[in-house]
Amino acid sequence: MQQNVSLRLLPSEAEDNNALKQYIARSAGKNATDITGFYILKKSIDARGKQPWINLSLKAFINEPFTGRIPEDILFKDVHHSKYTVLIVGAGPAGLFAALKLIELGIKPVILERGKDVRARRRDLALLNKEGIINTESNYCFGEGGAGTYSDGKLYTRSTKRGDVNRILNAFVQFGADERILYESHPHIGTNKLPNIISAIREQVIACGGEILFEKKVTGFIVENNILKGVKTFDETKIFADSVILATGHSARDIFELLYRENILIEAKPFALGVRIEHPQALIDDIQYHCNTAARNEHLPPASYSLVEQVDNKGVFSFCMCPGGIIAPAATNEEELVVNGWSPSKRNNPYANSGMVVTVENRDLIGLKDFAVDNIESPLALMHFQSWVEKKAFAAGGGKFVAPAQGMTDFCNNKVSAKLPGCSYTPGVYSTSLQNVLPPFIYTALQQGFKAFGKKMRGYYTNEAIVVATESRTSSPVRIPRDSDTLQHPQISNLYPCGEGAGYAGGIVSAAMDGERVAEMIAVNLRC
Ligand SMILES: Cc1cc2nc3c(=O)[nH]c(=O)nc-3n(C[C@H](O)[C@H](O)[C@H](O)COP(=O)(O)OP(=O)(O)OC[C@H]3O[C@@H](n4cnc5c(N)ncnc54)[C@H](O)[C@@H]3O)c2cc1C
Repeated sequence: MQQNVSLRLLPSEAEDNNALKQYIARSAGKNATDITGFYILKKSIDARGKQPWINLSLKAFINEPFTGRIPEDILFKDVHHSKYTVLIVGAGPAGLFAALKLIELGIKPVILERGKDVRARRRDLALLNKEGIINTESNYCFGEGGAGTYSDGKLYTRSTKRGDVNRILNAFVQFGADERILYESHPHIGTNKLPNIISAIREQVIACGGEILFEKKVTGFIVENNILKGVKTFDETKIFADSVILATGHSARDIFELLYRENILIEAKPFALGVRIEHPQALIDDIQYHCNTAARNEHLPPASYSLVEQVDNKGVFSFCMCPGGIIAPAATNEEELVVNGWSPSKRNNPYANSGMVVTVENRDLIGLKDFAVDNIESPLALMHFQSWVEKKAFAAGGGKFVAPAQGMTDFCNNKVSAKLPGCSYTPGVYSTSLQNVLPPFIYTALQQGFKAFGKKMRGYYTNEAIVVATESRTSSPVRIPRDSDTLQHPQISNLYPCGEGAGYAGGIVSAAMDGERVAEMIAVNLRC
C-alpha cells in the first residue's frame, strides 16, 4: 500500500534517509522494514520560532515495491508537416512554452528571437560585467530563454492555478531540472543550470519540426483589413503565418513604440521602480533563523525574506529576492542603468540581494521636476519615466554601468556614504546621493519602507546593507490588450499578446503558463 505521511523534523533529521524511514514507520504504525521506499511531496521550512523546523509531506510505500515518483512527461508530436504555422516573437518562457504547447497540439511553431542562443549570449554578458560594454540585442533581458535565463530561476508564483504550475514544473524536470523543484515550497533552479534546460527545450522544438531563428528582430507587422498576416524583420524579410504570438517581454520598448506608431491599441500599466538592496547573507540568516552566531545550521538553505509595507497609500515591497546571489547589470540600452539579481543553484555567494520597489502610476508623474512628457496619460508615459530614471542612474554612476549607491541608513538620513559596504555588483558601485536619481515620491517611500522593515526584521535596517540604483524592470509599464475570450488583440485578429511584456504575467512560471494558454486558444481558434 501507499500512504501519505506528514512529519515535522529538525533540519538534520529531514536530510537523513534512515531517520526519515524510522519516523515514517512510527507515523504509519509499521516497522521500518515494511517501508520499501518514499518520496517527498512537499517540503517547507518553519523558521518562526527559535528552533527552525522542516515540514515534510511524504508518499510512503509500505510492503509493496517502490516505484519512485512517476515522471509526468509531456508527449510531443511531429509537426514537420503541420497544416498550420504559428509565429512566436520572443524566446522567453512565454514564447518557449507556447511553442512546446503548440507542438503538443500538432501545430508548427516558428520562433523569432532578436538575441543570441544561450551560449553566445553568455559572452555578451561577460563583456558587460567586465568591461561595461552593452550589446543592445544580447544582454540579461534579450536572448534565448528571455529575461529569466541568467536569473535565480525562482519558480514560485502567486497564481492560484496550481494545476498549471505543476505542469510547468514537471516540464522543467523533463528538460533537466532537479526533482526538488517539484516539492520545495520555494523552488529555484539557479543561473548555472538554467541555460542547459533552455537548450534542451530548443532541441526538443527543433527535433519535432519547429524552428528557432536567432538574431531575427521583428520590426514591423503585416496587417491587411485588421488581420495580421505576418511580420517584418530588421533585414526586411517578410514572414507569413496563420497566427502571431507577441511574447517580447517587458523590455522591448521598440515593440511598444511600433504598436503605438501603427495605431494598434496599447495602454499604460502601473509598474514598480526602486533600488536593489544587498546585505551580507550571514546577517539575513541570523535574523531569519535566530542563530546569532553568523553560522547557519548546515542543513538549512541560505535564508530569504519577503517584505511589504504601505507608505502614504503607496506599496513598498521586496521583489525577486536572491539569497546567496549577485546583483547584475540588466539594462538593454546604452547609457541606461538597470539592476536585477541572480544566484547559482547552491546560492553560495556571501550576499543576499533583493529588489525594493514602489508602485508607480501615471498620476505620480504629475509635476515631476525635469521629467518632460507631452501627455502624462499617454500609454508610453510610464515607459518614458522608466527610461528617464535609468538614464539618471547611469549618469550618477559615472558611466560604464558603474551603479550609484548608498549605505542603507545613510540613504534614510540623506547622507552620502563616506564608505560603501562590499557589494557583489561586478561593474562597480559609486557613492553618491540617490536623491539625484530617484524622484522624491519613490525616495521618501523607500526611506519609510526601510525603517519599517527594520522593525519587522531586527537588524535589517543597517549601514552594512547597500542600496543600489535602479531596479526598474520589475514588470511591464505597458499593457497590450487582448480579448478575454479569444485572447486576440481587440483590433487586430491573429495577433496574440502574451507573457510579461503584454501585461499578463510576472515571472518565469506565470509567463510560461500564459504561453501555454495562448497556444491552446490558437489551436481552438484554428479549429484543430
Ligand atoms: C536578472 C533577472 C532575474 C530574474 N529572476 C527571476 C526569477 O528568479 N524568477 C522569476 O520568476 N522571474 C525572474 N525574472 C523575471 C523573468 O525573467 C520574467 O518574468 C520572464 O522571463 C518573462 O517572460 P516572457 O517570456 O514574458 O518575456 P521575456 O523573458 O522578457 O522574453 C522576451 C523575449 O523576446 C525577445 N524579443 C524582444 N523584442 C523582440 C523583437 N522585436 N523581435 C524578436 N524577439 C524579441 C527578447 O530578446 C526576449 O528573449 C528575472 C529577470 C531578470 C532580468
